[in-house]
Amino acid sequence: MDGFESNEGVIIIAATNRPDVLDPALLRPGRFDRQVVVSLPDIKGREEILRVHSKKVKLSEGADLSKIARGTPGFSGAELANLINEAALLAARRNLKGIGTSELEEARDKVRWGRERRSLALSDKEKLNTAYHEAGHAILIEILENTDPLHKVTIIPRGPSLGSTMWLPEQDKFNHRKNELLDDLVVAMGGRVAEEIQFGDVTNGAMGDIRQATNIARSMVCAWGMSEKLGMIEYGEPEGAVFLARDIARGRNYSEATAQQIDEEVKRLIDGAYAKAREIILANKEKLDVIALALIEFETLDGSHIKEIMEHGRLLNPPQSPNPPTPPPVAKVQSDRPPVKTDEEPEDGLPGGVIGVPA
Ligand code: ZN
Repeated sequence: MDGFESNEGVIIIAATNRPDVLDPALLRPGRFDRQVVVSLPDIKGREEILRVHSKKVKLSEGADLSKIARGTPGFSGAELANLINEAALLAARRNLKGIGTSELEEARDKVRWGRERRSLALSDKEKLNTAYHEAGHAILIEILENTDPLHKVTIIPRGPSLGSTMWLPEQDKFNHRKNELLDDLVVAMGGRVAEEIQFGDVTNGAMGDIRQATNIARSMVCAWGMSEKLGMIEYGEPEGAVFLARDIARGRNYSEATAQQIDEEVKRLIDGAYAKAREIILANKEKLDVIALALIEFETLDGSHIKEIMEHGRLLNPPQSPNPPTPPPVAKVQSDRPPVKTDEEPEDGLPGGVIGVPA
């Protein structure tokens, strides 16, 4: 890089996801001496990005991009581009002249939570199990104070899940409070707890929930200093390490005794969340039944429906179409992302989340 003085006017730009492992010599003054951090777009950025990508397609007059921007916190530019693409495919399948807000919202759900798999045939027993599992998550999201608003609960298989409970932050979120994380742990336990209370037996459907809860609890203890017992210390390698030799060489930086304490703390957090989930769901068992049976009948319920059941003990304004529309024809273009979204850790994936029963 030295010797560029004679070539004034030449600017060299490079990009990396791992600035932490660059040779410091590269970053000295006169070399790559300025760092511009490009983070995920905020609400205004998302609206602009949606506008750019929608230039290539036809939007209907009522299509509200600012509403979609509000409902897509944590989306990357690529995901927003994908959203527009999916919405265009949907509009084409429906023979519409332009993309409307409902196509955009449906595409958002698909990009965020995976494609619906209506063709997957589930037995009545599996459906009932899934309905109770998702009702367990939903009830906890409604009752706990530090959770994001409930978006939708469904027993239509989507992505790798047999059912999903989806929630979305109301606005962009840049950090997580401890109380929110504790409540997220309780919500994650809800599916398994509901199955256990209703059927006296459990399925392997809580696998994704268990992984998610373990990741949250472990990060709370090892990375975020949220365990009083272990204090404000970073245990182990920082998040997202292990793909370069430097990280691997670092290894474990605590003793065997501490390792045991970490395991105990993680287990204490999860056990506490489990007990709390059980207590809340037992106290609301009748509502759990109403939600689960409504899911069997209508397949998908919005957050507002769950609120109604929680307040009045029944659905006052049931969804319009209990029967799902005919499945779309086999699409010519399928740009589905690999079905990994549901298991992503909330702390480094998108905020909010989906809790589902893996197929
Ligand atoms: Zn679940």
